[in-house]
Amino acid sequence: MTEIPKEHPRYESLMMREKIVEGFNLGITSQQGLIAQGRGESFDYLISEHTTECAACAERAAVAFLLLAERPVISVNGNTAALVPEKIVALADVTGAKLEVNLFHRSEVRMHKIILHLKAHGAGEVLGKNADARLPLEHDRGKVDKEGIYNADVVVVPLEDGDRCETLVKMGKVVIAIDLNPMSRTSLASHVTIVDNVTRAIPNMLQFAKDMKQNTTEDLRKVVDCYDNNKILSSAIYEIHERLMNMAVERGIEWI
Ligand code: ATP
Ligand code: MG
Repeated sequence: MTEIPKEHPRYESLMMREKIVEGFNLGITSQQGLIAQGRGESFDYLISEHTTECAACAERAAVAFLLLAERPVISVNGNTAALVPEKIVALADVTGAKLEVNLFHRSEVRMHKIILHLKAHGAGEVLGKNADARLPLEHDRGKVDKEGIYNADVVVVPLEDGDRCETLVKMGKVVIAIDLNPMSRTSLASHVTIVDNVTRAIPNMLQFAKDMKQNTTEDLRKVVDCYDNNKILSSAIYEIHERLMNMAVERGIEWI
């Protein structure tokens, strides 16, 4: 890994790049995953690379959904495995969710490597290899485990593709997306859209899960019932708009 000085103004962002490149070198992240990270970075820039209030609200609601679920599953792809392996394993542990590796660019070798990587970071069982069920989608994208995503009632999908997300919603599942673009098809189709970097969202969710684990079902229901995803999406877009205006003024651009 390249040494990045801590005082570098883009330290966090550059460290993330290093992790993704390391994931690629380990055979965990795909070439396309490197590009997807770039799309994420551009949206992260627009929210000043921090967890906004509406993202925190969505993270809390997501945890309430997970704690109330009967068969929760956290879907893991190559980018998530490279960026937050320990935290995603811990989140599954605290919420009682199953972990399932699910790849857009599936190869058995990469599946195997990601499963081993998660196990090296403390995971017990990791689903995904069996692929004994199918989502109504063409090609490999639809391959899932019957005991995992196929039968899940609540699914967390970090960095999901729009088609697959829409399919999961149509199947009647509660879908929780983590996606820095508030206007992607995934963000628009999901029940809970967390507009935050997966590197901040997963640790935040882990903390919420630890704090809320002892809450009563009634209290968790209240969080879920008053959640409004449209409000969260519109606030996320409003924040981007505000931040862009403020940045422009700070940088001496005159509005005409
Ligand atoms: P959709 O298929 O939902 O319309 P898309 O085709 O624009 O979206 P994909 O390449 O399918 O995008 O998925 C990548 C998504 O993940 C992008 O919206 C990108 O902003 C987001 N993303 C990339 N890296 C991160 C990250 N580290 N944390 C959160 N979101 C990220
Ligand atoms: Mg897509």
